[in-house]
Amino acid sequence: MAKPQPATRIRTCRSCGTKYEYPLKTDPDATRHHCADCAAVPAHLRKVSERLLLRIQKLELELARLKPKTDFTRESGE
Ligand SMILES: [Zn+2]
Repeated sequence: MAKPQPATRIRTCRSCGTKYEYPLKTDPDATRHHCADCAAVPAHLRKVSERLLLRIQKLELELARLKPKTDFTRESGE
């Protein structure tokens, strides 16, 4: 990944989870917590998508935890 300018940092959007550089002149709408796309979304809808993102992240963690157990060395039909 290219190194961001000193003042620029890679941030993760709270609403959709995308990574973006902030502040960025090409994305003047982006805020500290939301990418340009989500910054344009009404606050109450953004809240919903933040909630959904949290659920997705939880499920991803759960999936990552379960994955190692789903190897095929295990006998089927317990
Ligand atoms: Zn976003």
